[in-house]
Amino acid sequence: MKRYEEQELTIYNSISKKKEKFVPINEGAIGMYVCGPTVYSNVHLGNCRTFLSFDLVFRYLKHLGYKVRYVRNITDAGHLENDGESGDDPILKKARIEQLEPMEVVQKYTVDFHNIMKTFNAHPPSIEPTATGHIVEQIQIVENIIEQGYAYEKNGSVYFDVMKYNEDHKYGILSGRNLEDMIANTRELAAQSDKKNPQDFALWKKADPEHIMRWPSPWSVGFPGWHLECTVMSTKYLGNQFDIHGGGMDLKFPHHECEIAQAEASNGQNPVNYWMHANMLTLNGKKMSKSTGNFILPRDMFSGDNDIFNKPFAPTVVKFFMYQAQYRSILDFSKEALEASEKGFNRLMDAYRSIGGVKTSESSSIDVTRWRQSCYDAMNDDFNSPILIAQLFEGAKFINSVLDGSEIITEKDLQLLKQTMQDFIFDVLGLVDIAESTAQDGNKLSETIKLLIQLRDKARANKDFETSDKIRDELQKAGIQLKDGKDGTTFSLN
Ligand code: AMP
Ligand code: ZN
Repeated sequence: MKRYEEQELTIYNSISKKKEKFVPINEGAIGMYVCGPTVYSNVHLGNCRTFLSFDLVFRYLKHLGYKVRYVRNITDAGHLENDGESGDDPILKKARIEQLEPMEVVQKYTVDFHNIMKTFNAHPPSIEPTATGHIVEQIQIVENIIEQGYAYEKNGSVYFDVMKYNEDHKYGILSGRNLEDMIANTRELAAQSDKKNPQDFALWKKADPEHIMRWPSPWSVGFPGWHLECTVMSTKYLGNQFDIHGGGMDLKFPHHECEIAQAEASNGQNPVNYWMHANMLTLNGKKMSKSTGNFILPRDMFSGDNDIFNKPFAPTVVKFFMYQAQYRSILDFSKEALEASEKGFNRLMDAYRSIGGVKTSESSSIDVTRWRQSCYDAMNDDFNSPILIAQLFEGAKFINSVLDGSEIITEKDLQLLKQTMQDFIFDVLGLVDIAESTAQDGNKLSETIKLLIQLRDKARANKDFETSDKIRDELQKAGIQLKDGKDGTTFSLN
C-alpha cells in the first residue's frame, strides 16, 4: 500500500539543521545507511537506543509503503581508540585479554548484538556488511582519492589531505566547523606525526608488528582507516548518492564529516541527502559509555540483576520508555521514569485488549478518522514518537469511554480504531504484548511437558524405569512436579 502518497513526511536534516520535506531519489524506494557497532564488547543500552531509533525509522518507512534497503555495517577492523586515528584497536586488545582470535571476538559480540536486537523486536537490516569483507574496495577507493590528488602516502600509511580538499570543497559542512578554527585550536605537533596536518586522517595504516589484523596493499601490509569502511559500504550497496545516513550524534564529527570528504574526493558527489543523528542515552546525567564504565547492559536490565534499578524491566517496556522521548532529545535513565513507563505501557495494552468487549452503536461521538491521521502527523513530524504515544493514549481513553458508556462508536469506526492501534503499537513502534507472549510461552511449555509425560508413560509400559524416573527427576529439578492420578499424569509448576 503506497501510504506515502497520502502522507507528508518531514525529516530533520543535520546538515541543513532544518526539518525538510522528505523526497527520495527514486520514487517509492529508499536507501538508508546506519553506522553499526564496533564489535569488541557487549552493546550497552546507549548503543541500543541509537539502533532502536533507526529501527523506528525503518519500520515507519516500510509502513508508509516504501521499499527500503537498509544497510547497517559491522565494524570489525580499523576503529582505533582515538576517533579511529591512533591508540589500540579495541578488538585486538580484547582478543589479547580473552585469549581469543580477533575474529572470535568479532563473532562473539556480533552474535550478542543480534540477540539483543532480536530481544528488542528490532528488524534486521537488509544488508549487514563487514569492514573486513570489503578490504579490496577500500584499497580501490584509497587509490582513487590519491589519483584525484586528495591523499598522500607517508611511511606506508596513506592520509587524507584536508587542506587540499578544503581548497576545492568545504571541509566541515556537516559539523559546522571551520578548518581555520580547527587548525588554530590544535595543539598537536605536526612534526611528531607522518601527517602534513593534524586534521588529516588515515585512509590506510601501516601495521605495527603486534597488529595482527593486517592485509597487503600497494602501500604496506596494514589495515584501512575507520571512516573509509562506511564510505565504501554505503556507496557500494546504495550508490554514490543515497537518501538517508544515520548514526549517533557523537559520530557527526569526525566520522561522518570524513565520510562526506572521502566520497566527494573520490567521485565528486555529495553522498547523502538526509543526515540523521540520534541523541544520547545518559545515566546519572552522563553519557552512557563503555570506556567510562557509566553504562548498563540490556540483559542486566531485563533480569533486574543490577544495582541501579533492582528490579527487572521487560525489553518492550525499555523500548517504550525510549520512544517516549523523540530521537533527537537526550534521554536519562532513571528508575522512576521507567516505572512510570511500565505503568503507562500496561494501561495502553489493557485498553487495547479490551477492544473485544466494546459494544457498537448506530453512530460515533468520536472522530476516529481524524485521530488516526493525528497518529500519522506525529510520525510525519520527524518521527515524533512521544507525540504518537500520547495519541495512542487518546485512543485508549476513547476505548475506556465507550466501555463506560460516556462515548459511542460505530462498528466501522471501532474496526478503524483497532486497526490504528495495531498499526502503530505493533507495526510501527514494534512493541510486544507481554501478557500475550507470556501466555504463548506458557502454552509452548505445557505442550513440551505433555510430550515428556507421554514418553514417560511409554517407558513405564516398556518397564524402562530408569528412563521414566529420569524424566520425573529431571523435571522436578527444573521445578516441574508430575502427579500420577487415576486419570493419568498431571503437572504443576513450583
Ligand atoms: P560504537 O560501537 O561505539 O561505534 O557505537 C555504536 C553506536 O552507538 C553509534 O551510533 C554511537 O553513536 C551509539 N552510541 C554510543 N553511546 C551512546 C549513548 N550513550 N547513547 C546513544 N547512542 C550511543
Ligand atoms: Zn560509520
